[in-house]
Amino acid sequence: MKHCILVVEDNQLNRELLRDWLEVEGYEVWPATDLQTSYDVFAKRIPDAVLLDINLGKDDGLDLLAWLREKPEMRDIPVIAVTAHALVAEQERILQAGCRACLSKPIDFHLLRAELSRWLQNPKTSQVRS
Ligand code: MN
Repeated sequence: MKHCILVVEDNQLNRELLRDWLEVEGYEVWPATDLQTSYDVFAKRIPDAVLLDINLGKDDGLDLLAWLREKPEMRDIPVIAVTAHALVAEQERILQAGCRACLSKPIDFHLLRAELSRWLQNPKTSQVRS
């Protein structure tokens, strides 16, 4: 079975780029543009992983993370953050919030491939930051 990845990204070009790349890699992609459309996806089905843009315009991507972490059946879904901020402090904030990894834009697809295979293989027992 294909792993399903929720891609939350407000920029259409970035979203399509990620979707195309992930589909070639063999993943099924469920796109969302903001928090509400993400919640709509979760109401129907649970993804194996989330690729989360942090800056969603009016929304803060980390609010989705907080929402997930309150739900026992969803709290272990690996979330990989994507941010345009290269600042170490911002990356630390994102990892402290519970994202498993934080990738900078433009995305290094070798890194993304490595993170996805790492977290999808073993979503619970890989190193979890608390
Ligand atoms: Mn964005």
